[in-house]
Amino acid sequence: MAERLVFHVDVNSAFLSWEAVRRVKNGEPDLREIPSCIGGDPEKRTGIVVAKSIPAKRFGVTTGEPMAMALRKCPKLVCVPPDFKLYDKCSKAFKRICKEYTPVMESYSIDEVFLDMSGMEYIYPDPLATAHEIKDRIRDELGFTVNVGIGRNKVCAKMASDFEKPDRVHTLFPDEIPAKMWELPVRELFTCGRASADKLTRAGIRTIGELARADEIQLRRLLGDKLGSHLHRYANGIDEEPVQEIREDAKGYSAETTVEENLEDLESMNRMLLAQADIVAARMRSEGARCRCISVQFRTTQFKNKSHQRKLADSTDVTEQIYEVAKQLIAESWTGEPLRLIGLALTDIDRDDFEQMSFLVDERKERLKRLDTAIDSIRGKYGNSSIRRAGTMDAEKRIARRYQAEAENKRNRYKGE
Ligand SMILES: [Mg+2]
Repeated sequence: MAERLVFHVDVNSAFLSWEAVRRVKNGEPDLREIPSCIGGDPEKRTGIVVAKSIPAKRFGVTTGEPMAMALRKCPKLVCVPPDFKLYDKCSKAFKRICKEYTPVMESYSIDEVFLDMSGMEYIYPDPLATAHEIKDRIRDELGFTVNVGIGRNKVCAKMASDFEKPDRVHTLFPDEIPAKMWELPVRELFTCGRASADKLTRAGIRTIGELARADEIQLRRLLGDKLGSHLHRYANGIDEEPVQEIREDAKGYSAETTVEENLEDLESMNRMLLAQADIVAARMRSEGARCRCISVQFRTTQFKNKSHQRKLADSTDVTEQIYEVAKQLIAESWTGEPLRLIGLALTDIDRDDFEQMSFLVDERKERLKRLDTAIDSIRGKYGNSSIRRAGTMDAEKRIARRYQAEAENKRNRYKGE
């Protein structure tokens, strides 16, 4: 097989940068240059910090802490509620540029893609120059920065993009693995969760290099057969997984979340699906659309992708109804493996002005529609975080925890240097 070449493109502090770009366009101060954060409701002093600027970090503001505490540390902190519609727009814009460079792009999350650049040396003879071009175009055309990682497979590209930030290109080719990756702590290895990192550290395996040289049989005993072998391969920079195009239906609405702590039970998956249903259904309603098909997709810790969908008799834009179907879909298709990623997509979109009348008027559906309308109008007036469904709180905490873990990783890395 010919040598593969994979790029991983990752937006630097995505939510904060995207909001900053919008404000700069309106002549407002650049959030990246002042103490600022995304999250919560600054007026009511509720909610948590989801992302923060570097100047906010200097005041000791940390991701995941309550807004009230952050404001005590830094009374001038500019707090901005999350805006998923904006994030979606920015996400699509940078992915559109990335897609110009390859026929095979894998959307890994809202702010990350893998590009399969294999076999394109005739068009792009110099991978580094191409990576710089992608990075510079996104910065110059869209106003926010990305890191690009280059490797022979996904794990190396992903690890490389996480080296020094922002606005940088890094390579991690096989001969660079010992010098660039092996000195990092095990928890920084892509897909190594906190629980695995703790187990490894307790067993005396602290760095990725120690993990790479560890006995595979011992690792399998420690972490289980699949995960033990998987992390051993990753530590050695081995990864055969192809870059997979996950079809993005331009006419549909979707959300997906990569979690830091694996999802291991239906209850936490359902909470995540409710948070996603809430966001995508609101987006769909704001464009006067309804869907006829609902699908749930997920990725296991072993990188198996699966999706399951259902066609509806009548199109819908009701959050509760979409969530009910999503819940059934995950219950039917999940076979017990821990999940790394879960997503919800609404497709087969209707944009007619009238809904197909069914012979029986569904009273519950009418009531739920009125509830959605009320929620949307409150959001329209007071912002996305002004109201939330009780079940999504946990998903928000999970997102905050993920950011906290990322922040912790970064802090430790700088400490180590
Ligand atoms: Mg990012």
